[in-house]
Amino acid sequence: MHLNPYGEYAVLLAASLANDWPADRAGIEERTREFGMTQPFPEAPGDHAGTRRVIDGWLTVVDAPGEQERAGLLNAQMAAVTAYPRLTDHDDEGWHLHYRDDGHSLPHVLAAVISVGTALHLTTRGMHRLARCAAGQEPGDPCSAVVVDVTRNGRQRYCSVRCANRAAVRRHRARRV
Ligand SMILES: [Zn+2]
Ligand SMILES: [Zn+2]
Repeated sequence: MHLNPYGEYAVLLAASLANDWPADRAGIEERTREFGMTQPFPEAPGDHAGTRRVIDGWLTVVDAPGEQERAGLLNAQMAAVTAYPRLTDHDDEGWHLHYRDDGHSLPHVLAAVISVGTALHLTTRGMHRLARCAAGQEPGDPCSAVVVDVTRNGRQRYCSVRCANRAAVRRHRARRV
């Protein structure tokens, strides 16, 4: 796994798992491939449920009410799962850093990659660049998707064009009454 300077792969992988949860373990592993992870994971019966717990923990970071709370939660998660950084060159990925020991389960590896990646994303791009879709903040709106803002201007508030349009229609109606 390449954790680039912005932690982009890892935090986008976490959001993808949160927004579109795979039905089985194979689906989780497939998603890690889509986001650029190459390493094989030892298979264990608790992998699917264990990864769900990792994502639920990550969602508390997404939903943290302020920067201090967000930092505190993320620090606790990193303390629980990461190890000192080390250089590695597995699977022809080229030299990169791992923040974990070798031989961990799929959920443990994802917990390490996601917590460090999220910390890198927030500290390099901005602590506010992780949130629920703004459309879903309106009463009665069904969207609960996570938005990872990796845009240049840092103003992405909606998970999709559909949600942005729905919010725009609501604003328009509000102005008319
Ligand atoms: Zn790696
Ligand atoms: Zn949305």
